[in-house]
Amino acid sequence: MSSDTRVRFAPSPTGYLHVGGLRTALYNYLFARKHGGTFVLRIEDTDRKRFVEGAEEALIDSLRWCGLDFDEGPGARGDEDGPYGPYRQSDRQELYVAAANKLLESGHAYRCYRTDDELQQIREEHQANKSPGRLKVRLPEEESARRAADGMPSVVRLKVPDGETLSVNDLVRGEVSISSDIVDDQILLKSDGFPTYHLANVVDDHAMKISHVIRGEEWLPSMPKHLLLYRALGYELPQFAHLPLLLNSDRSKLSKRQGDVAVEDYREKSFYPEALLNFVAFLGWNPGDDREMFSLDELIEEFSLKRVNKSGAIFNLEKLSWFNQQYLRERPVAETIGQLRPLLTEKGWGEFDDAYLAEVIELMKERVTFPYEIPELGSYFFVDPTEYDEKTVKKRWKAESGERMTRLAERLEGGSWKADDLETVFKDQAEKEEIGAGQFIHPTRLAVSGTGVGPSLYHMLETLGEERCLRRIRKATEVLG
Ligand code: GLU
Repeated sequence: MSSDTRVRFAPSPTGYLHVGGLRTALYNYLFARKHGGTFVLRIEDTDRKRFVEGAEEALIDSLRWCGLDFDEGPGARGDEDGPYGPYRQSDRQELYVAAANKLLESGHAYRCYRTDDELQQIREEHQANKSPGRLKVRLPEEESARRAADGMPSVVRLKVPDGETLSVNDLVRGEVSISSDIVDDQILLKSDGFPTYHLANVVDDHAMKISHVIRGEEWLPSMPKHLLLYRALGYELPQFAHLPLLLNSDRSKLSKRQGDVAVEDYREKSFYPEALLNFVAFLGWNPGDDREMFSLDELIEEFSLKRVNKSGAIFNLEKLSWFNQQYLRERPVAETIGQLRPLLTEKGWGEFDDAYLAEVIELMKERVTFPYEIPELGSYFFVDPTEYDEKTVKKRWKAESGERMTRLAERLEGGSWKADDLETVFKDQAEKEEIGAGQFIHPTRLAVSGTGVGPSLYHMLETLGEERCLRRIRKATEVLG
């Protein structure tokens, strides 16, 4: 890679890829590609209690499905992962222990021998007294020494200094400052010897030469602790960009309760990855004009952290469906035919040639979000209707309709079946009978499709062909009278 720009997506493998995670991955990817940099995937799996079998594979599979290839990370280059590996935190344990020891030696961290009960009590008192500032967990030195001598278990904590203003210039949020007095002495190494997110994250971002940390706003409160760690470890600070929260339409934080949040759910529901990516790209970013359709390459071209908003982004599912519909319309028809065929076979609706299916798709693609909806909403393109929508019958099939339709069918028989010619006949017949053309149009749609809605009638008739249409019109006059 030519540039020093190195970014990373650092998910904890929880078993699925959250759409917020996808957004973080996408922005990192776009930033890397835009600047000729490197996109690293790092698996943050130090929380062994939360280990989920197969989660890493599923996550990588989802990223690849979306087309977000990473340059370094597990399996990035076949057998090789990249020059800064290993890329799984569980394989990097010694680095964290070494960093913790360094911090202990330099006095920026200390061993804490507090018991769980004590900590519980400290927290309760802190809350009850509405005490300002940090939790008072530090023990007098002699007491720590005594507990150490007793062999009591300990954790390593960051020793947060007093009275400092910790600030960082976030690329999205501008200057963010906080007083060190309200920052707790963060645990860095747990009693089981595993690091917490904070220590491992900072150690790895440094070791992997990450230049820009682009992640969700939920990590902003961790910033002061990270700043202290960078300083204490003598690491150069990367640039930070915290992306806006994803919200439900009621502006609450996006949660599972309100619908699907996993990329895998949308994949299962047959969304196009391009549509999902395009949708997710707009959760917190826009190009500054009214263009909405962007391929991944176009996003790379346009993306800039400068255009990422501070305020929360509403996760609007209707918009996602809209994107999917746009992508379906642009799809090569051969691909959609390929998706349609097995569905028709499954339903036992027989064989249809490519030309016919292409016409059906052309007529229906404006009306559906997914290819599988074509046989659902347009079953009449494949089988004769077996029933007629009751409301439409009531509204559209008049006492005279049966006889009128018989006369119309007679006139249509053997004539041209081109949409324009059909329209001429319908209008002409209506004029002759001194009625509105609607008296033919609506009953015809009902007769041939069984429903009151659908694509342009004359084009639909043209596609269905004379034989099907006349058979269905005659059948309807028998059934509906
Ligand atoms: N492991 C964290 C997560 O699951 C990474 C946060 C970060 O990017 O620093 O989101």
